Amino acid sequence: MSFLELKSLCKNFGGLRAVDDFTLTIEEGSLNALVGPNGCGKSTLFNLITGVLKPDAGKVCFKEHNITGWPSHKIARLGVGRKFQVPAIFEELTIRENLVIAARNTANRAAINGILAQINLIEAEHMLAGELAHGQKQWLEIGLLLAQAPSLILLDEPTAGMTAAETRATADLITRINRDQGITVLVIEHDMGFIEHLACPLHVMSKGQILKSGHFADIRKDAEVKALYFGQAEALSDA
Ligand code: ADP
Ligand code: MG
Repeated sequence: MSFLELKSLCKNFGGLRAVDDFTLTIEEGSLNALVGPNGCGKSTLFNLITGVLKPDAGKVCFKEHNITGWPSHKIARLGVGRKFQVPAIFEELTIRENLVIAARNTANRAAINGILAQINLIEAEHMLAGELAHGQKQWLEIGLLLAQAPSLILLDEPTAGMTAAETRATADLITRINRDQGITVLVIEHDMGFIEHLACPLHVMSKGQILKSGHFADIRKDAEVKALYFGQAEALSDA
């Protein structure tokens, strides 16, 4: 059995098929990106994986457990960490205190230092989280995920509102988390520069389903994907 298996997942909101017969297998230790236009069902898919929403049909299997319909705290305990678009940090506590709380006081000082170094906030450890720049808050939240020692990390648009330099640094951070720590990562993203920098398999979603999977270089040349994602005009001009 694979690490994470999504089998024929469906989720309707009234008459809207937000996720429609969605099937994807994620191997342990891999890094994958999920892209697609606004409203195509990406965040809903993360809600189905994490137990925030229950699917109308289909199955979610993780580490040989059928976790379909499990409550989200149980799924989190099994090792699924998820970052929302808006950082959920304790603004009135220091960076280090945020990490200690996230680790539920189980991580030792060295482990916390390692995370601080990784998210590039070691100099800022005694600053209040609320004083951080927007991009740094996003990194702190990734740090909070790491402190919980997940085996799968789901990131929903982690570079939203970031500068180009911050976006690039985030791509590097995610690459290191995956490559050096062996944490499996599935990232939703809009920013194509970021996706290119990640250099990982890409799944393009449209209307609740996967339209195409492949590597960035091939995907960007695909006429169907171009029409959907890069805009009709570009697809026609390059044809
Ligand atoms: P994405 O993350 O790809 O932008 P979403 O998964 O957030 O897309 O949304 C997919 C579709 O489902 C959209 O049309 C959205 O309006 C709708 N939707 C998402 N969540 C809900 C909800 N809780 N209730 C009703 N409709 C929803
Ligand atoms: Mg979304």
